[in-house]
Amino acid sequence: MKSQSPKSGEKTKKAVPNRVKTAALIQSKSLALNGGKPVRNPHDFLLFGAPALGRAEIAGVVDSMRRRWIGTGPKVARFEKEFAEYQGAEYAVAVNSCTAALHLSMVALGLGPGDEVLVPALTFCATANAVLHAGATPIPVDVLPDTMNINVEEAEQKITKRTRAIIPVHFAGRPCAMHEIMALAKRHRLQIVEDCAHAIETRYYDQPAGTFGELGCFSFYATKNLTTGEGGMLLTSQKARADRLKRLALHGMSQDAWKRFGDEGYKHYDVVELGYKYNMTDMAAAIGLPQLAALEKNWKKRKAIWAQYQKAFSDLPLTLPAEPLVYERHAYHLYTPLIQRNSGITRDQVLSALTAEGIGVGVHYRSLCDHPLYRKRLGWKRSDAPVAGRIGDQTLSLPLSPSMNQKDVLDVITAMRKVLGGKSKTT
Ligand SMILES: *Cc1c(COP(=O)(O)O)cnc(C)c1O
Repeated sequence: MKSQSPKSGEKTKKAVPNRVKTAALIQSKSLALNGGKPVRNPHDFLLFGAPALGRAEIAGVVDSMRRRWIGTGPKVARFEKEFAEYQGAEYAVAVNSCTAALHLSMVALGLGPGDEVLVPALTFCATANAVLHAGATPIPVDVLPDTMNINVEEAEQKITKRTRAIIPVHFAGRPCAMHEIMALAKRHRLQIVEDCAHAIETRYYDQPAGTFGELGCFSFYATKNLTTGEGGMLLTSQKARADRLKRLALHGMSQDAWKRFGDEGYKHYDVVELGYKYNMTDMAAAIGLPQLAALEKNWKKRKAIWAQYQKAFSDLPLTLPAEPLVYERHAYHLYTPLIQRNSGITRDQVLSALTAEGIGVGVHYRSLCDHPLYRKRLGWKRSDAPVAGRIGDQTLSLPLSPSMNQKDVLDVITAMRKVLGGKSKTT
């Protein structure tokens, strides 16, 4: 078969398919993977998700230590108040992880054996595990290829007589279609628990993520947009629910049990139900308070890096993340391009090559349907969520942290272009 003749003016060099060039590139001696000089020296490895921690965070922790009140106390109370204010929510309950927040959500909504909860297949395992910990059954729903968020039409098809709730995940910080999800919930009397682990700054038609559903769950894990080392938060609009969540997070002990050692004299407490040990500490809140104050500044930094990547990678064999729509505020938690399937290089080869160049990478995520736990226990298979499966094969996450300086960003771009081809332009 005759190949298409190049249009006049187009260089004939372009007729060499990208995949051949890229496939040859992975063999190149210039790559650190093959013994070449790395973009960054090993002692200068660019950590994925390194948090931006400054003097205020350090001073806060030292202050808690000097006061010798390092457990749950006044700083947690302040952090809850300020977090609720930032999100425009009525009540916030601090816990020690988003996993704890998700689990408590299931318990507080009375979900348990016999109940089904829809979860996207493209998420961190904690989303599904929280459902399992409550004794209920997670059901995987596929995601949309462009937003990587839960496919609402498909969610509707997976609703059965047992379905009680949906946990939408605002993937990478891009809001889910919350109006459609809330309408679906209303039609089928389902409860919505938002997994906002990526989505502190996310807004949908100006409404903050985590305030649409019954409950919003946030993560302050080390790599998240706001970190407390480990930590999490629940948002609710109901006082009674907030009180119950607080109690459940501390052994089921009656209100403000943490005050029992305070200067107002010892107070008895009652254990009124079987709770958990999920309380946040003042040491963690001491880190969280200045992190909250820096949230918008750090968001702007990540937004700028995201935009720089979009521009710098436009000619590489990648499917770049879709730009947010006008009514969406993206939290820019993750930058997750897909390695095109015809590129001649696999995602795992790119991961190895970038690591060798001194660039830390991540994968968010392999589809839950590919993990042995859910396959063995629940019979999940790839065909339950083919889009999530494909994304899980092709996605990689590049460093996107406010702790990065311009050189760090340019190093990522240089390494990507070295591995995936393209002239070594750096923008
Ligand atoms: C990080 C994460 C969690 C769990 O958060 P932890 O605070 O580590 O428990 C849950 N869901 C998603 C989508 C996450 O990214």
